[in-house]
Amino acid sequence: MSWRITAAIAVSLIPLLVLPADQGEAAAARKAAKARPKPPAPEPCEPRKFKIILDVGHTSESQGATSARNDVEFGFNLHLARLIRERLKSAGFAATRVLVTDGKARASLLKRVGTANAAHADFFLSIHHDSVPDKMLEAWEFEGAKSYFSDRFSGHSLFVSERNPHFAASLAFARLLGRELKEKGLQYATQYSLPLMGRYRHPLLDKDVGVYRYDGLVVLSQTNSAAVLLEAGSIINRDEEMAMNSPERQELVATAVVMAMRAYCEKR
Ligand SMILES: [Zn+2]
Repeated sequence: MSWRITAAIAVSLIPLLVLPADQGEAAAARKAAKARPKPPAPEPCEPRKFKIILDVGHTSESQGATSARNDVEFGFNLHLARLIRERLKSAGFAATRVLVTDGKARASLLKRVGTANAAHADFFLSIHHDSVPDKMLEAWEFEGAKSYFSDRFSGHSLFVSERNPHFAASLAFARLLGRELKEKGLQYATQYSLPLMGRYRHPLLDKDVGVYRYDGLVVLSQTNSAAVLLEAGSIINRDEEMAMNSPERQELVATAVVMAMRAYCEKR
């Protein structure tokens, strides 16, 4: 997620990728969702043919959050998505692809969804790294440059939209992934259910493994396939940023996705 908006891209105070549709668009989206023909029941999952799209959060032009050490979220997302693709392919999910989108934040959201729907994706997993709202940021100096951090929160989180036509399947996968991450010793980010998050507060659907409901997200509500957004960890937290940069943590997350996808696939 992205909370810090630099002057150059100060188009909105809303997080850049996880930009909910505005009022008019939301109403139009609901109307479109109603008008949309009911999607056919999902085919049984054959890993080799199962089209998984790994959506890289943000774009090279609109790079999402800035880490405590001034790296951009887009880079973290791209690196992790590519690793997950390799691990899924090795596990037999040969039709997995990484989706990199260009352009400005809002336009890129529609492009992502358009590409996934045109490709008749079976599953859409959006990869992000988390930050905090601006009001929680504290200043520090990193390599001589004024930088910002918040060590207050850490952890991954999973988001699903009830407006997705395959909400139950999306939730099922999110729970499987949350379970895998928990079993690997990771604690999810609990702050999204707290009042201090204000407009970014979300209902916690699974207290055990950290799945939240976020209905307005374009990439979750407008995709025709099941869709989940993974915030893999916080890069504004100084310790967790280091962890997210480590091959060990990256492998752990990628393995968790593979295990969850296998279990999800077997249940279909
Ligand atoms: Zn993001």
